Amino acid sequence: MFFHSYRAKLIFYMVLLILFLSITLGYSYRYVQQVFLDEVDSHLVRLQQLLDGHLNAERNELQRYAAIVAQDLRLKEYMYVITGIGGDSEPLSKLYEREFGWLPVDRRIIMTNNDNILVGNQHTDLAAAIQKYATMPGKGIFYFQGKSGLEVVAVATIKYRDNVMGRVAVTRLLSQNWLDMNKQITGGEFFLIENKAILKSTLQARNHTLFNLRNNILSINSISYRIYQIDLPGINADKPELWFGFSENDIITKLEKHRSIIFSLLGGGIVAVLILGMLIIRNFSRPLNQIMRITRQVADGELPPLEKHKVANEFDELSNHFADMLMALREQQHEIEKHHHILEQSAITDVLTGLYNRRYLQEIFPKLLASADREDRLIYAILLDLDLFKKINDTYGHMAGDECLISFAEQLHQVSRTSDHVFRLGGEEFLILSIHNSITEAANFAEKIRAKVEKTAVVYEQHIINMTVSGGISSVISNGATESVLEDMLLRADVALYHAKHAGRNRICIDANPDDSDSHHNLRINLAN
Ligand code: GH3
Ligand code: MG
Ligand code: MG
Repeated sequence: MFFHSYRAKLIFYMVLLILFLSITLGYSYRYVQQVFLDEVDSHLVRLQQLLDGHLNAERNELQRYAAIVAQDLRLKEYMYVITGIGGDSEPLSKLYEREFGWLPVDRRIIMTNNDNILVGNQHTDLAAAIQKYATMPGKGIFYFQGKSGLEVVAVATIKYRDNVMGRVAVTRLLSQNWLDMNKQITGGEFFLIENKAILKSTLQARNHTLFNLRNNILSINSISYRIYQIDLPGINADKPELWFGFSENDIITKLEKHRSIIFSLLGGGIVAVLILGMLIIRNFSRPLNQIMRITRQVADGELPPLEKHKVANEFDELSNHFADMLMALREQQHEIEKHHHILEQSAITDVLTGLYNRRYLQEIFPKLLASADREDRLIYAILLDLDLFKKINDTYGHMAGDECLISFAEQLHQVSRTSDHVFRLGGEEFLILSIHNSITEAANFAEKIRAKVEKTAVVYEQHIINMTVSGGISSVISNGATESVLEDMLLRADVALYHAKHAGRNRICIDANPDDSDSHHNLRINLAN
């Protein structure tokens, strides 16, 4: 299973941590964004209220001006005279200029009931609008697109002695100045828009014919403005729309700042998690893996060397304990191997003389035979038996006999070559398996031993003990199974030895071997003396 491994778990938790970080920071960003946007909306609502109040005050002011003119007694009398008797409108114009020229209005018009223009006769567009207005319900104030642009018009009825004489209208243009002034009051931007074209605005750059207005967002030169349309009561539907709002740039820069903080927090968090993970892998995973690798090797029967570390953490301690354990195991293994070797040796050697025993003969003979066959040479068996050994035991004691056996074994060891194999078959009977070029050579080798034993006296507790040895030699007749080859060879060597004993001991006899070209006769006796 995937989560079985400690490292996989670690990676899984790291991914979880990074996910958690991303979600938390992402959510926080969304939250801040929402807070900003809410702030923008409430700001816009406040601005709208402020602007409504301001526009209302402006309209009231204009209506007051119209009322001031309409209620002027002399003006009313003039109107009465002109409409009743008829007369020149010139003195009315002069009166207006003298009495009301100071009013801060852009255009003014005075009309009779019959729509004769008494003052401001050049403003025919305005006159037509007022005429139209007369048929409409309202409070005597409306916005209208005239010759000079969008303007707000206040109309008042002139009455004299309960008779309606006519109407007076004053206007104020929504000029560039007007827009700029309102920008100063509200802090927002103003746009006069008609047929998807900006007629006027309070923006610094005026050449912004290309723009995109969607969902109350106006994009000009890649800057977005959140805008609202201001309701302008009026008589012609195709008059320009008045919009106001403000740039989202400030908000966006604030948001971007926040976003970059979020991104750096996220980046920092991810880097921190990765560094943490790497540290964990370094400090935990690596030593753990090392220990795991070594335990696997131990399980496979190896005992690899493990260096000890300076203890810095629990893993070092564990590793050091493990190294100690391995060392102890190695020492034990070494001991076992030593003992095993000793056991092996003792299983194949004779305790008294240190020579190979009969068991080893069975074991080694097939190998010797195979090796001799490969080299096309003959193995000779030299069977040796100490003469009248019983007598030595009887005369000097069993211990002396043992000493003689040890001495004899030592002599055999001295005489034999490394390729020879010397065995104690039991009691005072010994065997040498050696390779020679001929039976004569083998016989000479045996004779050398016989002579050496005869000459060497064993000293035991002031006794000088002389020994002699008899020997029988045979060679391999290599047909049949290995076991029978050995049995046959030993049997024939024993027969030769029997002959040596029978012939008076202290001599070597050779078995006639049909394979050996050197021995034609059945039995040859080497006499020592
Ligand atoms: P022969 O010349 O015919 O071989 O006469 P022998 O006395 O050597 O022959 P025999 O087989 O009658 O006697 C062998 C003696 O060797 C008998 C036994 O007491 C003695 N012997 C056998 N093994 C040991 C041993 O390990 N230590 C001692 N001291 N004597 C042993
Ligand atoms: Mg004997
Ligand atoms: Mg014997």
